[in-house]
Amino acid sequence: MKNFYDILGVPKTATDADLKKAYRKKAQELHPDKNPGNKEAETQFKELQEAYEVLSDGQKRQRYDQFGSADAGFGGQGFGGGFGGQGFNPNDFNGFADIFESFFGGGFGGQGSPNGRDDKKAKGPTRGKDIETEIDIKFEEAVFGTTKHLEITKPEVCSHCTGKGNEPGTAVKKCEQCGGKGQVRMTRQTILGHISTVQTCPACEGRGEVPEKVCTECKGQSRMKQKGEVSVTIPKGIEDGTTIRLKGKGAAGFFGGEYGDLFLHIRVSAHPKFSREGTTLYSSETIPMIQGVLGATIKVDTVHGKVNLKVPAGTQSGTQFTIKDKGAPSLRSEKLGDHKVTVTLKVPEKLSRREKELYEELAKESGTEVNKGFGLF
Ligand SMILES: [Zn+2]
Ligand SMILES: [Zn+2]
Repeated sequence: MKNFYDILGVPKTATDADLKKAYRKKAQELHPDKNPGNKEAETQFKELQEAYEVLSDGQKRQRYDQFGSADAGFGGQGFGGGFGGQGFNPNDFNGFADIFESFFGGGFGGQGSPNGRDDKKAKGPTRGKDIETEIDIKFEEAVFGTTKHLEITKPEVCSHCTGKGNEPGTAVKKCEQCGGKGQVRMTRQTILGHISTVQTCPACEGRGEVPEKVCTECKGQSRMKQKGEVSVTIPKGIEDGTTIRLKGKGAAGFFGGEYGDLFLHIRVSAHPKFSREGTTLYSSETIPMIQGVLGATIKVDTVHGKVNLKVPAGTQSGTQFTIKDKGAPSLRSEKLGDHKVTVTLKVPEKLSRREKELYEELAKESGTEVNKGFGLF
């Protein structure tokens, strides 16, 4: 295993400036453009980058000095990290980016991805992202189901190039970097020895081909943001907080990749009269006290319309009655839940002279102590 300091040809006490100077000199010597077809120089060039990446980073250098490795995940990070643009900052070394870009055909992703893709791991045809959105529906719509039309602005396949990325009528040529395979093999030295990995070709991002002229509409990205309508069938019995997954209604994929999915969060508005728990609906009705005393058949509002309810004589205020099969449907079956109604008895606030006489008579009959005289009313 080669020591990173030896690779750069500097002592362990080298300053950042020494490292930078040594790196720059060696990088120019070993640059593939100067050593065409020289595999050894290519390997050394990669080792050099790996060594510099670790030693130019204060934290990584410290860990390397201490443990002989920059971090526990070094084997997976080292060169691969730098390659993808995460580990290196080309700005902190003038000239470095130039070298790197000529080697990798301009596919260097240090400043975000080269063509502005939002997917950092983009590879040729790539599936579009899943999208999340919310929709408010009415209480009754949740009970009985509905169809909604949503306006969503999301990436769609570019209609100008039909998702190919090149300007129509212009040619697409085979990627020279990877010979059209879309992948390149990278061999690098790590503390575990030589590791060979296959990576997405940075020049063509895995497509194996590059356009002569990128599409003028989508700038070669194969897709564009567009406003569109999505129709959603919301099943009866859906509950507040449910998420519906609409397959293939998310963002368009890149270069013919499949669409992502649309995740729709359902929010059900409150109802002034009804509340709901699963398939059970709840409401309350206020009736005159005398109906509770003597019993009556009253009309109760349900989502399915008015329903007759028999209130027996002697019903106390706050009694809950169950009306079978007048609740919400279940998502899984045709069966309806129940409607539960709580009955509140209302005491009359104003009495006619005759009513008052009758109540006083009633009080006397039942031996109940009450106030006397009209003045109190
Ligand atoms: Zn286009
Ligand atoms: Zn390529």
